[in-house]
Amino acid sequence: MEATLAEIARNTEQCVKCGLCLPACPTYQLSGSEAESPRGRLALMQGAAVGALEGSPRFWQHLDSCLDCRACETACPSKVPYSRTLELSRRILLRPADEQKTPVGRLGNLAIRRLLPYPDRIRRIGQLLRFYQRSGLQRLAQTMGFFGIQSLRRLDAELPRLSTPFRAGAKPVSHSPNSNPAVALFTGCAATEFDSDTLRASEMLLTRFGFNVTLPPQQRCCGALPRHSGNHTLARDLLRQNLQAFADDPLIVTSATGCAAQLLDYRHEPGGDGFSDRVRDIQTLLLESWPEGLVPQRLDRTIGLHLPCSQRNVLHTPDASTQLLRRIPGLSLIPVGDNRFCCGAAGSYHLSHRSTADELVNAKLDNLSETGITMIVSANYGCGLHLLRAAKERGLDLQVLHPVTLLARQLPAPTDLNYR
Ligand code: SF4
Ligand code: SF4
Repeated sequence: MEATLAEIARNTEQCVKCGLCLPACPTYQLSGSEAESPRGRLALMQGAAVGALEGSPRFWQHLDSCLDCRACETACPSKVPYSRTLELSRRILLRPADEQKTPVGRLGNLAIRRLLPYPDRIRRIGQLLRFYQRSGLQRLAQTMGFFGIQSLRRLDAELPRLSTPFRAGAKPVSHSPNSNPAVALFTGCAATEFDSDTLRASEMLLTRFGFNVTLPPQQRCCGALPRHSGNHTLARDLLRQNLQAFADDPLIVTSATGCAAQLLDYRHEPGGDGFSDRVRDIQTLLLESWPEGLVPQRLDRTIGLHLPCSQRNVLHTPDASTQLLRRIPGLSLIPVGDNRFCCGAAGSYHLSHRSTADELVNAKLDNLSETGITMIVSANYGCGLHLLRAAKERGLDLQVLHPVTLLARQLPAPTDLNYR
């Protein structure tokens, strides 16, 4: 299906201007401005699609300040496809010819173009960053004040301590017969280097639960970041490569809710329908296939639960993390702030719209110090990093991990599972 102005016009016509989405919209809640609300943005897109409005800098400012968190879609009784309409507008409506990109925006676009599609380059970056962290260079750079540019300081503060990368090859082998079908694990672009613990836990749990896990070697980035940054040619190119890489896999499992949301959206693209039908989120898959009699080890602790927008508003599985972690005896969960609202990470939004992103994340952390919580779980790596950086700035000692990583840690040592 090709993107057309008619599709934007059709989608925006679905909006009956009831305003029921306004209380759910973070940017409207912060600004109180109609132009910063879903209803206002839809009216702007409609005006542009029918030729009544020019794509002025102000027009794009209102569209770009949207987090694409999709809370408005969840609230909308008329089922307006807001995110799809925003994506189409960003794809086909013209931007002012003299539009200026910030240095961070230019750097981000360069990284998206030159890094994300190339796993070997991401691997080299991972190696360099591990050296940077372990050799003492990071501490030196911080104490010598090398990060004069605030955005670079922010990136450095968000950089987690990198653990051993996730590589195909060291694979858990179950000695019990596989009772479940083969599943292909979606590893994404950077998770093998930056979120390797989650991938190891995912592979281990799926194998333990009787799935035969494969890692299609030709898979690429899901395309969420290129799409968010307006690079639709690259997003489509990655989509085509993933359609081929997973062509023969009956089930594609992902642990990152942001990637899962993007893979589900492949259904809007040529050839993407059959693909999206095969995509499963690991948390719901584990819940459905929980082995009889399996009880995790007890953990007497209260931890924070952060609910990513992609999990709540796109996968529509807001209770999956709670249900999964309730299997751990003794564990109590409390929400991190108001889980109905976005934390402000939103892809690269926390870099391009720092003050809004900070307001949103700080609202989540405001009561955290009173709770004494030192661990948060989140099924979205980007949200986790954003929360971690904001907590560090407040002097809070916080650990953020994926629910499946915590679950894997609490499982009794497997008697039927070895690493090859
Ligand atoms: S996607 Fe989020 S920020 Fe954007 S209009 Fe909808 S609710 Fe508001
Ligand atoms: S809830 Fe839906 S129909 Fe109502 S104003 Fe918002 S987008 Fe339009």
